[in-house]
Amino acid sequence: MITKAHDGLVGALNILFSKANIGKVGLSEVTVGQWKQVQDIVLANEGTLVSECGRLMGRLDLLIADLDENGESKGWIVADLKTGNPPKLKLNEKVSRQLRFYRDLLVEINPDHPQVHAEGWYSSNQTVHRADGPSVLDDAFAAWEGMRHSEEPLAATPGEVQCGFCEWKAWCPVWWSARRDGILPPGSMFRDEVVSAIKFDPESGAALFERMPPVGSDGELAHSDHRFGAILRDQALDQMRELMDSGYEGAIFLGSVRVDGKIVHIGDWCEVLPWTPLLKSVRE
Ligand code: SF4
Repeated sequence: MITKAHDGLVGALNILFSKANIGKVGLSEVTVGQWKQVQDIVLANEGTLVSECGRLMGRLDLLIADLDENGESKGWIVADLKTGNPPKLKLNEKVSRQLRFYRDLLVEINPDHPQVHAEGWYSSNQTVHRADGPSVLDDAFAAWEGMRHSEEPLAATPGEVQCGFCEWKAWCPVWWSARRDGILPPGSMFRDEVVSAIKFDPESGAALFERMPPVGSDGELAHSDHRFGAILRDQALDQMRELMDSGYEGAIFLGSVRVDGKIVHIGDWCEVLPWTPLLKSVRE
């Protein structure tokens, strides 16, 4: 790990030396004068860029002067240090977009900027890859707009992986109908349920639940003949007591219950929450 980090540092420094027109030099032989030469071209490091409107923000690794062969600055280079695999031919689209984003943001907030271009510096093989192309700021603003809160939620995309540990199931009506439709498996030992409480003994934690299958896909529920007994303990028992003490009579989401034969165990690893499908943004 240390070797890799060390090699990366040496690789990045070598690129920096070449940008300062110093060429290849062993690090232990760098003179004070040469190091000053390097420092002179570094205009900013770890610099935060924020658009005038405050909506876009980026953090560039390095901003250096772009020297010509006479050592005169002919512009700026936005450099991003990369420790991953270098590209075979050209930068992949994501990296190129990231670099151009820094470039374009820098240009936006520095109206008197000289010529600017962005580069990815790959320390593993000490190669430099330039990110050219049109401005990405319009796309960035469009993405920002797309992330604004809206009354309508984003379309749900239920699936085994994403729903597996999702903590929003008590508010999401989609996974429950996806399970009915066979898009999600029922789960074997650990499963989620939407139920109503038929009986509950707050002392022992014993409960009898009725599964409430979905009707449509907006969280509406129906009754069913499917009933099962459960033992609640610890945090789950506290949550259930709290719910029942509050006079709640609606459906309940049971998260990650453990099925053991005909009995279901609900403990510290579970959630017992009111079933509250959110179909639009609610702000108080
Ligand atoms: S449970 Fe709902 S919100 Fe969570 S990943 Fe599945 S579909 Fe998305």
